[in-house]
Amino acid sequence: MWLDGMQRALGGEADSDVPCGGCTACCTSSQFVHIEPDEVGTLRRIPAPLLFPAPRMPKGNVLLGHDENGHCPMLVDDECSIYEARPRTCRVYDCRVFPATGVELDDEAKLAIARRARRWRFDHPAAIDQLEHDAVRAAATFIREHEDLLPEGAAPTNATQHAVLAIRMHDAFVDPDETGPFN
Ligand code: SF4
Repeated sequence: MWLDGMQRALGGEADSDVPCGGCTACCTSSQFVHIEPDEVGTLRRIPAPLLFPAPRMPKGNVLLGHDENGHCPMLVDDECSIYEARPRTCRVYDCRVFPATGVELDDEAKLAIARRARRWRFDHPAAIDQLEHDAVRAAATFIREHEDLLPEGAAPTNATQHAVLAIRMHDAFVDPDETGPFN
């Protein structure tokens, strides 16, 4: 199900399986794309002047910025010009985390992502799927209402971090009374 795919991508085990269908909203929304030092193939493909050191991160971590229109400079004719070597950040990005968690993406520069994300619908073929989705939303609500209870440094600083944290934490919110051998 979609949640398994999302978790595998967030865990670095697989690329995101989001069916973009030609949508480039995340490439045109003023994003700073983080690239880690081990992404050698990616770094080789991006002109050095387009990269700058990532603030508050160890040496070697860089960000790929955007042009004055908020477009990634590697987007050419509405397609990623380095698709097969695109950064890990792009590989795991999944705009479905917003509607899945109920977290609103309210940054004006990212409205195109928010608009596209609102169109996603989720299926729940088995009872456990609905339970897990409820747990994802409960985790997002908990994070919103009890940020002070999170470990130091764990509180999200933007909507994406909030949604991703809810996906990561949702296991703790699955109601044990509702899970059983037939779920
Ligand atoms: S590197 Fe490619 S996939 Fe990533 S934001 Fe730029 S154009 Fe989009």
